[in-house]
Amino acid sequence: MGIADIYSSEQFALSFEFFPPKTTAGEEALVRHAKKLSQFGPSYLTCTYGAGGSTQEKTLKIATRLRQEFDVPIATHLTCVGRNAQELRDYLQRALDAGIDNVVALRGDPPEGDKTFKPVEGGFAYANELVAMIREEFPSMGIAVGGYPEVHQEAPSAEVDLENLKRKVDAGADSVITQLFYDNEDFFRFRDRCAEIGIGVPIIPGLLPVTNASQIKRIASLCGAKLPAEFVESLESTENEEDQFRLGVQQATLQTQELIDAGVDGIHYYVLNKSEAASQVLQAISRLQ
Ligand code: FAD
Repeated sequence: MGIADIYSSEQFALSFEFFPPKTTAGEEALVRHAKKLSQFGPSYLTCTYGAGGSTQEKTLKIATRLRQEFDVPIATHLTCVGRNAQELRDYLQRALDAGIDNVVALRGDPPEGDKTFKPVEGGFAYANELVAMIREEFPSMGIAVGGYPEVHQEAPSAEVDLENLKRKVDAGADSVITQLFYDNEDFFRFRDRCAEIGIGVPIIPGLLPVTNASQIKRIASLCGAKLPAEFVESLESTENEEDQFRLGVQQATLQTQELIDAGVDGIHYYVLNKSEAASQVLQAISRLQ
């Protein structure tokens, strides 16, 4: 089932994002955690796409395994990093052949140390070009794209970033999954602005529960997401890992509940190949419903 059909059904759509583990043990653990999360009835699962050659192959391997193990649609993430258009086409065909009928279509990041993204020869410079190719040549595939409630780090302004997002939607994206964020006001503002400029596809919030204090700096350096000061203070006020975990789940539960109350079509959890935090959040939510 494609992403467009998933979000057009009445059902609230949960999705979980995994990344390709480095080891066989990591892969088995991923499947175990995905099994635990399947009790919440996800509408689809996704697997991220790495920056280098072997990591990219692993994405297809994990996406295929998820497809075989779980009776839900799967999306492979795909970036324009290191591959020309023909290589991207070949990847998409192999994904389709493996029963993977959705793509999270991205440009990818510049290599570490570089400020600007340089496409390979015959490759794509921006995600909208990848989306256009998929929509034209793989019309049955569902397409999600990335959106940035706190504005993409390279964009000169929120307005320009939104125009670029609209370009991706106009090229054929079925939905937008947002970069992780911790202040729902950023998301609500972003969603309103999307509506104002005529982006009509579902805007799906992406959440990553922070469950220990050491994650705080990593998140800020990775994507620039800001964390509410009060939450950071409370996390840093204790060294007890269980307490930090409990506080993180509490924060993510409040964030989730507010988003559901605001009528989002679904929520995408960056679960980092673990099930505990998302499970506790979703259990708490079901108790509140
Ligand atoms: P684009 O939409 O191409 O935007 C990149 C920048 O260029 C933005 O500043 C935008 O405003 C600008 N821009 C866009 N189009 C144009 C244009 N036509 N002309 C001029 N400027 C333009 N990374 C991975 O490596 N692997 C993953 O699996 C992965 N999964 C992700 C999943 C989600 C839901 C999200 C939100 C991000 C993910 N990322 C992943 C990170 C992503 O690759 C980076 O954020 C990357 O820097 C931008 O990708 P994009 O597709 O949003 O790029």
